[in-house]
Amino acid sequence: MIPFLDLKQINLRHEEEIMQSISRFLQSGWYILGKEVDQFEQEFAEYCGTKFCLGVANALDALTLILRAYGIGEGDEVIVPSNTYIASILSISANGATPILVEPNIGTYNIDPLKIEQSITVNTKAILVVHLYGQSCNMEPIQALAKKYGLKIVEDCAQAHGAIYKGQRVGNLGDAAAFSFYPGKNLGALGDGGSITTNDEDVYSRLKALRNYGSHKKYENLYKGVNSRLDEIHAAVLRTKLKYLDDDNQKRREIADYYNAHINNELISIPKIEDDSPLSHVWHVYVVLTEKRDTLQRYLTERGIQTLIHYPIPPHQQEAYKELSSHVYPISEKIHREILSLPISPVMSIDDAVKVVEALNEYKENL
Ligand SMILES: *Cc1c(COP(=O)(O)O)cnc(C)c1O
Repeated sequence: MIPFLDLKQINLRHEEEIMQSISRFLQSGWYILGKEVDQFEQEFAEYCGTKFCLGVANALDALTLILRAYGIGEGDEVIVPSNTYIASILSISANGATPILVEPNIGTYNIDPLKIEQSITVNTKAILVVHLYGQSCNMEPIQALAKKYGLKIVEDCAQAHGAIYKGQRVGNLGDAAAFSFYPGKNLGALGDGGSITTNDEDVYSRLKALRNYGSHKKYENLYKGVNSRLDEIHAAVLRTKLKYLDDDNQKRREIADYYNAHINNELISIPKIEDDSPLSHVWHVYVVLTEKRDTLQRYLTERGIQTLIHYPIPPHQQEAYKELSSHVYPISEKIHREILSLPISPVMSIDDAVKVVEALNEYKENL
């Protein structure tokens, strides 16, 4: 069986070092907002090239708090891709603002910059970009639009830790960015975790209070904040795992390169690369398109290859977003109907990638 992602093996590779970091945490006797979070914030800011980083409980909170820190709420509109994980959109609704869905490019799966401008109105306050599947969005035209209309750019980097667009890491391409350290992400904790990166000192300061009951000073509350903090134990483990992130991403690229070069079946479309630099993609998942997706998935399961679907139902067709159900997003709908995520991870062998490609190249629809 070729697993989609062997998470246990990913963490056990560093068992000794992870145990040491947990022991260091335990010996400190400090559990919430201490040295490990401080250090991790500095190290992750440095890694992303930003002035600031703040640990929070998860990426949904990170996105929600960023929009709130920019004062985005009732009556405001935020542009967001129609093809994303639901959390990107939930963060907008959570603030009482209106998500305006914009279609992706069918090849890269990322928001199509050419379709953004027609969706901008007097109420638009921000563009929430998602570097989906690990690939940086085509940011230059988006940055130009944000400048022209005075909009904030919020990056959802939950799938793209370490991706580099034109020499800069994601998380440093807009006004503020959200990262997830959910265990299955490219940089994963041993539970939930998240962070915010930004170069904006005002917003950093507001967010630092917002994540901690709205308080800078214990028992003095400036805002009606929330409790959304990265735990010390997760920060300690993440400091260890951050050291391996670039290597891990490189291993993912080797698998993706093999798939890109060898998948050769006219029934299956491979993903397109947005930028000519291989560093712009960290391959959180490797997603192909095929007309009879369920048939291909069943065929691969029979050949001992585990696949997943990211994601089966588009946001505008979710029960939670009934108000969007009259809208039609044909590209997004086609993507959700036809996508399949192949196995890829830093612990997958090229031998296994060879087997996946053999199976794909032998696939016929009438099997
Ligand atoms: C995982 C994910 C999130 C949410 O991250 P959590 O830390 O689980 O809240 C948000 N956006 C995208 C694109 C994701 O993949």
